[in-house]
Amino acid sequence: MSFHVNEKGYYGEFGGAYIPEMLYPNVEELRQNYLKITADPSFQAEFDALLKDYVGRPTPLYFAERLSKKYNTKIYLKREDLCHTGAHKVNNTIGQILLAKRLGKNRIIAETGAGQHGVATATVCALMGLQCIVYMGEIDIKRQAPNVARMKMLGAEVRPALSGSKTLKDATNEAIRDWINNPVDTYYIIGSVVGPHPYPDMVARFQSVISAEIKTQLLEKEGRENPDHVIACVGGGSNAAGAFYHFLDEKDVNIIAVEAAGLGVDSGESAATSALGKIGIIHGSKTLLMQTPDGQITEPYSISAGLDYPGVGPMHAHLFASGRAEFISITDDEAMQFGLQLSKTEGIIPAIESAHAFAVLEQKKFGPDEIVVINLSGRGDKDLNTYIDYFKL
Ligand SMILES: *Cc1c(COP(=O)(O)O)cnc(C)c1O
Repeated sequence: MSFHVNEKGYYGEFGGAYIPEMLYPNVEELRQNYLKITADPSFQAEFDALLKDYVGRPTPLYFAERLSKKYNTKIYLKREDLCHTGAHKVNNTIGQILLAKRLGKNRIIAETGAGQHGVATATVCALMGLQCIVYMGEIDIKRQAPNVARMKMLGAEVRPALSGSKTLKDATNEAIRDWINNPVDTYYIIGSVVGPHPYPDMVARFQSVISAEIKTQLLEKEGRENPDHVIACVGGGSNAAGAFYHFLDEKDVNIIAVEAAGLGVDSGESAATSALGKIGIIHGSKTLLMQTPDGQITEPYSISAGLDYPGVGPMHAHLFASGRAEFISITDDEAMQFGLQLSKTEGIIPAIESAHAFAVLEQKKFGPDEIVVINLSGRGDKDLNTYIDYFKL
């Protein structure tokens, strides 16, 4: 069984490009060019150089000694929290902006929910001197003021999405509308392994640097490339896709994907897509999706804004349906407690998204000689107010 995308853009039965006809030329231009451009040695050289000198890669693979003692197993942290801008998202935006430049585009649009992808996009637009317009739900603009300020400082224009629930999916609709109206000069940077083909595959390839580095670093530290378990949280699924990518076909590696259970999987306030979702279409992709019986998208909930998404990328839907990956859901409370624990045990304050991945240590027992790699997707600075409110700090 293959866990990679096929020629038609599918992972098993998931994926594809379910888009309005007016979007077809844009997506088709990208589909025809993305592999050719990204395989070019000059693209690779520029991508690698920016990842090294601008993002700060390779990020360390850190052996967490105190945490390992506590859980009686060997735990390594992949430190994406040390990337420039504080999370893995910039790996993808660097890749896509280089692609946009080679396609001759000079106007960049993006959608953002919590603002993290908006900041990562505004950052690379500043780096390249390109115009940047970020669509963001009006409610999210109010909730995420610091990220809105960051985007503005970086020179981006933040346009409020005023329709529907005034959150991420409405911002996405506005971005798609913009792209339809500006097909020639505009490039749409999507922030996760979601959207119509080729986006999920393209974003997974850009993020796959994470597992490529894990292999090299683990070989150096442990004399073998493969861990026994690799764990990552899944919102749309880009940090997980990157952390899993080079292990997908390695049967000896157990893959664990962690979703946000919110207040509990059956509470009605959750974002655990694999448990609650059915096949549907979101953002141009056939995937697992939380929806009402008549197919309306359900509003997801998680304390962590980055996991608050009603679907998962098609790669993850296939990993779930095929049984290749184990899916575990973690509640708000479990994640918050682990965020505090990791801070006190290792001196690392994680993003609340990443704390979900760590909380698996409380649910599953690993052997004393097993190697567990946890993808620490981002740092917790952006979540300080949530930590303050939760723990009354
Ligand atoms: C955005 C974000 C996520 C969730 O997005 P994925 O595409 O699922 O990786 C996870 N962790 C952090 C720190 C984020 O900023």
